[in-house]
Amino acid sequence: MSFLPRATVLTSNIVDNWRTLDGLHPGATTAAVVKADAYGLGAAKVARALKIAGCQTFFVAYLEEGMTLRKALGKGPRIFVLNGPARGELAAYRDAELTAVLSSELHLKLWSTAPRGTCALHVDTGMNRLGLPLAMIDTEATALRRLAPVLVMSHLACADDPKNPANLLQRRAFEAVADAFPDTPASLANSAGCYLGKGYGFDLTRPGIALYGGSTPPANVTLKTAVVLEATIISVFKGHKGSAVGYGATYLLTQDRMLATCAIGYADGLMRSGAGKLMGWVDGVACPVAGRISMDLVTLDITDGPKGIKPGAHVEFLGEHARLEAQAAACGTFGYELLTGLGPRVQRNYR
Ligand SMILES: *Cc1c(COP(=O)(O)O)cnc(C)c1O
Repeated sequence: MSFLPRATVLTSNIVDNWRTLDGLHPGATTAAVVKADAYGLGAAKVARALKIAGCQTFFVAYLEEGMTLRKALGKGPRIFVLNGPARGELAAYRDAELTAVLSSELHLKLWSTAPRGTCALHVDTGMNRLGLPLAMIDTEATALRRLAPVLVMSHLACADDPKNPANLLQRRAFEAVADAFPDTPASLANSAGCYLGKGYGFDLTRPGIALYGGSTPPANVTLKTAVVLEATIISVFKGHKGSAVGYGATYLLTQDRMLATCAIGYADGLMRSGAGKLMGWVDGVACPVAGRISMDLVTLDITDGPKGIKPGAHVEFLGEHARLEAQAAACGTFGYELLTGLGPRVQRNYR
């Protein structure tokens, strides 16, 4: 038995989440965003499970991610590379049958220099991050259509804030893009965009974080837990009144307390900013983190936890009790950063 922290990835729940999102936009295709190693959970395993469930379209950020994913999935599924091609990469795109998402004039120039595979066009409808200028859709429409893109897409800046008027403005701008490419499928929505209603689905949706149990869905959407993060307790002891716990002696004991030190720390992705707010669950009971989180260790105050906790017991830091977005909020961040921050020491298991 190992003391290393464990992340148990529940691939069948990820598949269920994909189906749930698919159900929100009947008639539209639901892709899966598996960039950053499927948000830290393992792109090959996750994508294979989704492919078996019927997902035929995947998104990654980099060419290298796309090449690895192609090896994992084999021929057939479409793999889009969001960051687009760099000089010298075009042959690799063609050989691995990856679809380059072109999002700058440099990309367009590069793409005109063969060899080429399939491409998509990413248009900036207001986020000012990545994408061809919206005006090009008017001025260059004919030339752009000649590239025969297999998808036109844009990305929402404020989808996680459903009341934000920017959403409708971006949707209207994107409708004009979709209209300029009547024979090309169009895609606007990420996970949060999928929650904004029918008008945001277009032909293809691109959820990422929601597949992994994150985001803040509306009341009618229930996502399942995608990952259970557990650590092992390696020491249980009494902390005496008047002493303090951990680096900086920040957790002062005004009475005797029972403490349990777990083998997990910020090197594993348990963010140091979670001190004072983060919880660990022992047998379904929440116990607060006592003091600072160390690189490899964290101490819990188990005084009010279940009785009889012994070394070897497991502590849940993500899972059915330790909800991803709540734990992330305790660290001052969101689910994306907590998941992608799970360190290389965390043993991934798949169920
Ligand atoms: C990462 C990304 C997504 C997925 O976003 P989520 O918020 O995780 O659903 C979709 N589209 C683009 C362009 C992205 O970069």
